[in-house]
Amino acid sequence: MKILFEGFSKLYMRKRYQRLQEAGFLMPADISYLSSGGLQDLELADHFIENAIGYMQIPLGVASNFRIDGVDRIIPMAVEETSIIAAASKTARWVREEGTLTTGIEGKCIIGQIQLAVVSNFEKFSKVISQEKMGLIELANRDVAHGLVARGGGVQDLTIRSVARPDGKTMGIIHVYLDPVDAMGANIMNQVCEYLRGPIQKISGETVNMCILSNLVDSRVTWAEVRLPRIDSDLGNRIAEASLFAELDPYRAATNNKGVLNGVDPILVATGNDWRAVEAGVHAYAARSGQYRSITRWTYTKELGLVGRFEAPLIAGTVGGVTKLHPTAKVSLQILGIESASELSRIMAAVGLVQNLGALKALTTVGIIEGHMRLHIRNLTLGAGALEKESPILQR
Ligand code: NAD
Repeated sequence: MKILFEGFSKLYMRKRYQRLQEAGFLMPADISYLSSGGLQDLELADHFIENAIGYMQIPLGVASNFRIDGVDRIIPMAVEETSIIAAASKTARWVREEGTLTTGIEGKCIIGQIQLAVVSNFEKFSKVISQEKMGLIELANRDVAHGLVARGGGVQDLTIRSVARPDGKTMGIIHVYLDPVDAMGANIMNQVCEYLRGPIQKISGETVNMCILSNLVDSRVTWAEVRLPRIDSDLGNRIAEASLFAELDPYRAATNNKGVLNGVDPILVATGNDWRAVEAGVHAYAARSGQYRSITRWTYTKELGLVGRFEAPLIAGTVGGVTKLHPTAKVSLQILGIESASELSRIMAAVGLVQNLGALKALTTVGIIEGHMRLHIRNLTLGAGALEKESPILQR
């Protein structure tokens, strides 16, 4: 892998393809597909969405130098913003050479919600649903989620919540916990919740108003951790101070989290996943204490050096949606070399955290303009009408 990563950013595109093919990440057919401009099949666009008129092409690149949980990875990233891939690759090299990057996931289940707008007797409702819980779970698993059950997932639990309404009455909400295995699970969850609508109404005598999954998936939280034990103490302290700023101040937290998502969203896009769902979940999780906070935290001590942690729900699939239908998403999953949704989620957490570290290091030392604008200036000169060959002269 060292040879794969060596000088990767300096290679011409043709040589990049060659390197990736030699290392087994790309097949010759993938290279002809990518080098001819990617997906252009308008019939497929017409299947994906309604009223299709074409494609919005976003550049697809790869970040190098990542070693996550001891495994070297090439990270496909589809993104329009300059400097994200450069910063990710550069910071990943620092972490690879000087520290460790580990990940994990707590919990398996996503959450679906069944709303009963007004429950006449919440205590009675709660009791009867609790009594019938196992039967409802079995019903959903037998009639709707059997495909997931066969793969080791399916509906695992139901819980009941009450919410006080402004008119003094009580709203009842049933949470459905479902393990979607390698899918993001939105459609299957919605089917489960809607299927349970009838039986719940029959058992309770109450009326269901609506059913939909929740994107605030605090039941399946992904974490990543960076450790840099030998970092310079001044730099370590600066990064820890910047982190405290983002923890305490929502204005800074929003921008901090945007920077983390610079590492996450491009992977979601590249793999054909629903980035709106992940964004909604991450921001809701960031605000779960009642104040919007950063989803990363960095501390510095002399004993441990710099320790950084990311924690948030990152729900994405390696099957379902367009992950297996969009040819670029298929190539991206192949480059990542993964099959499971949990691996995908952990890789995104790792890249998001490393992206955050790169930004914090720049912000607390040379400033953000130095790296970002140096790369972005090329876009500015081209935007102002300079020819490709004139741009380098104007950048001097
Ligand atoms: P999907 O509807 O394509 O279903 C995935 C199916 O794949 C499963 O039902 C299962 O039968 C099958 N499958 C095969 N191998 C599997 C494996 N190893 N693990 C799990 N399932 C396997 O996809 P989905 O994940 O249910 O839904 C994702 C889509 O839902 C996305 O396109 C998303 O944009 C959309 N969506 C999102 C929201 C939201 O986030 N609020 C709401 C509605 C829809």
